[in-house]
Amino acid sequence: MSNNKYQREIKSGVFVDVYDVLKAWDVRNPALQHLIKKALAVGQRGHKAAAEDLQDIVDSAVWAQELDSRPAAGPKTECHHVWSSTLGGNKIVYECEKCGVAR
Ligand SMILES: [Zn+2]
Repeated sequence: MSNNKYQREIKSGVFVDVYDVLKAWDVRNPALQHLIKKALAVGQRGHKAAAEDLQDIVDSAVWAQELDSRPAAGPKTECHHVWSSTLGGNKIVYECEKCGVAR
């Protein structure tokens, strides 16, 4: 037996917790992670709590959808610079209107 209440014996002598499962399946969306954790434990806090757990799963699914539909941020997305000129001191400075990079 495992002394960790979050672990389950998947096969004889093989104990895993939810985080091991999320890692094995490479689940990175935090909303999906929450959904899976909830789905594996629906009603374990009692029958009345099961309805709450199911609603939490629905909410997490909607949240997961929102996170997934957001455009990827960071250096991977290239900016098609829109240059605008401003006077900085005694010289003209070109700055991208979209990302703010200077030229
Ligand atoms: Zn730009």
